[in-house]
Amino acid sequence: MTKTLLIKNARVLVTMDADRREIANGAIFIRDNVIEQVGNSADLPHSADEIIDATNHVVMPGLINTHHHMYQSLTRVIPTAQNGELFNWLTNLYPIWANLTPEMVHVSSLTAMAELMLSGCTTSSDHLYVYPNGCKLDDSIEAAQKIGMRFHAARGSMSVGQSKGGLPPDRVVEDERAILQDTQRLIETYHDAERYAMQRIVVAPCSPFSVSRDLMREAALLARSHGVSLHTHLAENANDIAYSREKFNMTPAEYAEDCGWVGHDVWHAHCVQLDDDGIYMFARTGTGIAHCPCSNMRLASGIAPIRKMIDAGIAVGLGVDGCASNDSGHMLGEVRQAMLLQRVAHSQTTGPDAMTARQALEIATLGGAKVLNRDDIGALKPGMAADIVMFSLDQIGFAGAWHDPVAALVFCTPSNVAYSIINGRVVVRNGELASVDLPVVLERHNQLAFNLAEAAR
Ligand SMILES: [Zn+2]
Repeated sequence: MTKTLLIKNARVLVTMDADRREIANGAIFIRDNVIEQVGNSADLPHSADEIIDATNHVVMPGLINTHHHMYQSLTRVIPTAQNGELFNWLTNLYPIWANLTPEMVHVSSLTAMAELMLSGCTTSSDHLYVYPNGCKLDDSIEAAQKIGMRFHAARGSMSVGQSKGGLPPDRVVEDERAILQDTQRLIETYHDAERYAMQRIVVAPCSPFSVSRDLMREAALLARSHGVSLHTHLAENANDIAYSREKFNMTPAEYAEDCGWVGHDVWHAHCVQLDDDGIYMFARTGTGIAHCPCSNMRLASGIAPIRKMIDAGIAVGLGVDGCASNDSGHMLGEVRQAMLLQRVAHSQTTGPDAMTARQALEIATLGGAKVLNRDDIGALKPGMAADIVMFSLDQIGFAGAWHDPVAALVFCTPSNVAYSIINGRVVVRNGELASVDLPVVLERHNQLAFNLAEAAR
């Protein structure tokens, strides 16, 4: 028995298809987890097992988050880490994160996913790279299964502690053989390579300054032998560049290439300080980037040259990054920051034209899909996964903005969704999460956040 769902009467339906059609009075017909028809409400079937009336709503593809550390939702605005740059910020937080427990990973993942889903995100990656006290990536994968989010779980890792010249304290790093074994276990247990997959595994040593060259190379070999993607942090700020120069006598882009970390199956977070040679090499090799504007501003890392990267042909997706350096996990809010920040970057040249609202939305949909190496999400057209979000225009923040409801989503106050459908399942209904009891999750989350901060005193 198949189940059908019809969304009709949308004020505007944003397709992100090849022609970037925006359909007035739009409708979309879904069978099970796949989109079957998209068009004008008058032209689509008039009945279905469930019908959602999208009058006065913008309907669009679910947003795709390509970089996050969900456990960091427990360590927002830690006072000693509010005003440091990347390396200082990290060294203040590592001792706190060393006390993470499996329950903390699970509950914080639920919280982070809830926040993302309410803010328009339907697919997220998460990069978990600290595994103290029996924590496992399984703890966050189970959260995604429970809440119903499409999930790319990145098995992060750190192996070079302070005693070996790395940045993290020795007690939060792991043995490299154990890292690779656990990564292989996760791929074999969870990775789904099929179209419409709800869970994929990503091989993701944390950064060049926290793992060895050997692990970077072995990780690339492991990922390629299983056909899974690779992800890490790269060229985030000036200290990151200096470390690469001093330790490897290479730029971060050269180092990535040297370790086999370029190609369509690789995406790097940040790349704020990627030089021109790196930009052209990434474009040539199909290497993707996760742009995290809030985090880059928060840590004063700089402004990633996103306009230049896109013009060069690099696949760019958007990421909220972890909540210890954002400290918001609002996906539509991040789209807004991406647009505004590129305008600031080009104040002396192209000006506001550097990024439009629609270009920013495209990064967060089609861009994210490309970065995650997927062709089944990021657009609303027949054959795509049914990942759809709806924003109501009947809100004070959109008053006076109905001239262009699509641009309003980005220019005006970031809104939460009225509805979210992931893989054909309604996971947010009338603005409320349907899959978990959010107040219960948040109460436990706040208790665990308190416990974690206390444990480090
Ligand atoms: Zn990050």
